[in-house]
Amino acid sequence: MEKITLHWFVTDPEGPIATHGGGMPVPLPKMAGHPGMRGFIGGVRGRIACQPQRSDINPKTVNGVTVVCAHSDDVRAANCPRCLATPEAKAMLERLGEVTVTAQEAR
Ligand SMILES: [Zn+2]
Repeated sequence: MEKITLHWFVTDPEGPIATHGGGMPVPLPKMAGHPGMRGFIGGVRGRIACQPQRSDINPKTVNGVTVVCAHSDDVRAANCPRCLATPEAKAMLERLGEVTVTAQEAR
C-alpha cells in the first residue's frame, strides 16, 4: 500500500495559498520565542515547501479518482522527502529540537 505524502505547509504571509477558516484557536504547546508557531487553524497564508508556486491545494477529482494535497503546518508531521530536503525545513527541525531540549531542561 502506498503511503500518503504529507507536505509541509509553511506559514508565510506572502504565500500563494490562503486556507479557509477564520482562525479558530487551538491549544499548542508553549513555544516562547517562536512567533512562527501560531495557535490558530485555518485562515492563514502560506505555501507548500516543495512547491512554492502552487496556489491550489483543494482536493480534485479526475476520472473518478480524488487526489488530495495532504499537508501539515508542523514540519515534524511532514514526510515529503522534497519538503524535508529544503534548507528551511532543516532549519525548522533544528529549532524545534532546541525547543524540546529547553523545555526538558526547564522542568
Ligand atoms: Zn512536499
